[in-house]
Amino acid sequence: MNKASKEDLKKDKKIEEEKPIVPAHTEQRRGMQRPPEEEEEDIRARAPIALVVRSPRGMQDVLWDDMRYWDIVSDTFKQVATSFNMKKVSVPVVEEAALFERSIGETTDVVEKEMFFVKDRSGTTRLALRPEFTAGVARAYLEHGMSSKPQPVRMWYQGPVFRHDRPQAGRYRQLTQFGVEVIGEAHSIIDVQVIHLAYEAYKALQLDAFRIDINSVGCLNKTCRPAYINSLKKHAQDNTRKLCVDCKRRSKVNPLRIFDCKEEKCQVVANLAPKITEHLCEQCKEHYQNVLRYLQDLGIPFRENARLVRGLDYYTRTAFEIISTLPATDPLSGLALGGGGRYDDLIQLLGGPATPAIGFSGGVERTIMQMKAEGVEVKNNDMPDVFLAHLGDLGRRRAVKLLDDLRRSGFRVAEAFHKDGIKAQLRNADRVKVQWTLILGQKEALDNTIILRNMESGMQETLDLNLDSLVPALKKRLHKEILTSHT
Ligand code: AMP
Repeated sequence: MNKASKEDLKKDKKIEEEKPIVPAHTEQRRGMQRPPEEEEEDIRARAPIALVVRSPRGMQDVLWDDMRYWDIVSDTFKQVATSFNMKKVSVPVVEEAALFERSIGETTDVVEKEMFFVKDRSGTTRLALRPEFTAGVARAYLEHGMSSKPQPVRMWYQGPVFRHDRPQAGRYRQLTQFGVEVIGEAHSIIDVQVIHLAYEAYKALQLDAFRIDINSVGCLNKTCRPAYINSLKKHAQDNTRKLCVDCKRRSKVNPLRIFDCKEEKCQVVANLAPKITEHLCEQCKEHYQNVLRYLQDLGIPFRENARLVRGLDYYTRTAFEIISTLPATDPLSGLALGGGGRYDDLIQLLGGPATPAIGFSGGVERTIMQMKAEGVEVKNNDMPDVFLAHLGDLGRRRAVKLLDDLRRSGFRVAEAFHKDGIKAQLRNADRVKVQWTLILGQKEALDNTIILRNMESGMQETLDLNLDSLVPALKKRLHKEILTSHT
């Protein structure tokens, strides 16, 4: 075997190895004989593709079947937030890492384990993908001098956040949050408005299998949280042998975080810990009691949960979570659909004046899982109203113009102008499950008419191609209340 042929062999072997990357229909084309149109479609549908690059772990594509759930969650949240007089804001997906480290806390899971860091080309700034919205919105409040606007400033948002968690059902690395922040008012009625808004949003999505857990995590006055932290430290130290390595370490610097630990043995220690509500200072106690009273007045059901502290350091006073109460067999059962609380010290921590605030955020993915588990039906609005088929070159030229006219008149029109044969076009119409097909051939183009075919019954009728008569005729056949949603 000479050198050249060895190299050829190597090359052949390499091609063999790379083969699966090439879709089967491409292979077919190499054989020069192009398969007929229909056969080609079938081959394409079956083609096994070994992907070179997949989506990053814990991050997912959303296609149209699911997108209708996304749209409904988005639209509903927007509607509810707007009805509570919130204004929409958007903040960068990337911020200086220090913003999150300072506000969320260096010893929280989110900062210690879950942040995605981003390198910028200069290498001078440490950047991170946002793991939540509150810190960014609080920064924006300061940066845009919002304290000079009428207080409180009420804002809502929606967008992706990133957490490098271990992916599993209901836990992703890219997730989408919707939420609100109300900055500049300490009154307990604001807490209730935010909880009310969250409650209304889930109710508007027709969800029932959830409960609201609420607690107060006190304030930084010496007699309030600091006193509680001391007794919690003592409890943790008395039980130190029962804690995981992380909690052993954290119990000395930030014992509240024991409550967030997912390890069962740490949860046992947390369950036996003293309750923070028994240590609240007079003002925090009064604030908490007022929140509970207003919630009762509004008929919003809640459950007091003395173990609820939320996983981020900036919370003060009110903390709450919306918890899924789906049966234990469901992966969402017991997980939070959303949560929030007061953060009265955060704006000051970021360099601003003392400014009380409260927020809430929910996860779109978990909300959709909950909707599906509860059997909430979301209509498919993705269906075309009509399919427009053509015959011959003149038919196609008139059809191209007609499509534009129909689109402007509010119809959603499907077509396969790239195909020549009427059979292939009608098969396409069948596949998109459209009920009506318009057929425009050479003869019709010359007569200024068009054929309307009912795809279910196969019945055909001839209509005037003039838009003034075609549009109302189509509307009548299609019972076009749907039209309003397209115009
Ligand atoms: P948090 O600020 O951590 O309470 O998050 C607010 C909401 O975002 C949660 O209640 C969840 O609905 C959602 N969420 C948080 N982390 C994840 C995650 N890793 N995957 C999916 N959803 C999440």
